Amino acid sequence: MLTDTHAHLYLEHFENDIETVIQNAKNNSIGKVYLPNIDNSTIEKMLYLESIDQDFFRSMIGLHPGSVNENFRAELDTMQSMIDNHRFCGIGETGTDLYWDRTFINEQIEAFETQIDWAQKYQLPVIIHARDSMDLTIDIVKNKQDGSLKGIFHCFSGNIEQAKKIIDLGFYLGIGGVLTYKNNELAVIVKELPLDYFVLETDAPYLTPVPFRGKRNESSYLKYVAQKMSEIKKLQVDELENITSKNAENIFSF
Ligand SMILES: [Zn+2]
Repeated sequence: MLTDTHAHLYLEHFENDIETVIQNAKNNSIGKVYLPNIDNSTIEKMLYLESIDQDFFRSMIGLHPGSVNENFRAELDTMQSMIDNHRFCGIGETGTDLYWDRTFINEQIEAFETQIDWAQKYQLPVIIHARDSMDLTIDIVKNKQDGSLKGIFHCFSGNIEQAKKIIDLGFYLGIGGVLTYKNNELAVIVKELPLDYFVLETDAPYLTPVPFRGKRNESSYLKYVAQKMSEIKKLQVDELENITSKNAENIFSF
């Protein structure tokens, strides 16, 4: 069975055919889908999706760096008040993003550190987003790592030195559709490093793998990422599925 460790299937992209998307995923041996939150506007939709199929979906709670603005403290307070009332599988997605907008970088860092504190307090994995900010994000995690923190650098987009630093911090690398794109450094990193440090993800509806690149992504397309990774690692696909799903189990306790 495959585990999609990162998909936003609760977004409006799926509102007309979510049942088909779920069925496609199950037909393509996806056993579980982890749902990272984005901000306060997505929590209800995410929890509703989880309630439809509680064996299949797992929800996280967190504030995406792209949604951090001057109101982030109030938004975080609302989220934290929910942690005791719902069984979330992780904190995320959180992190830093300097690609679109650097206006709220200090707020992004504070929001990220607060969410790392939650991960430590509630003993949950933290799911990290870093875009154009890999070294900064790694440094923040390094300063907070007291041996208790674990999680995923989702949709890893750094170089091999950064990948090694992340592994040394006890974190995993989330690998998705980008692996199937031509001329990417990720294939070299996947080849170079042991499979023990990788988990698979779609980031659906984004980052669709070849052969559907440019279209909406969905969890069933994870098989194309798994196929590509098994070619790179020279392994049978089912062997790769087992190892990466086991890695996911090491991160998430349920
Ligand atoms: Zn995401």
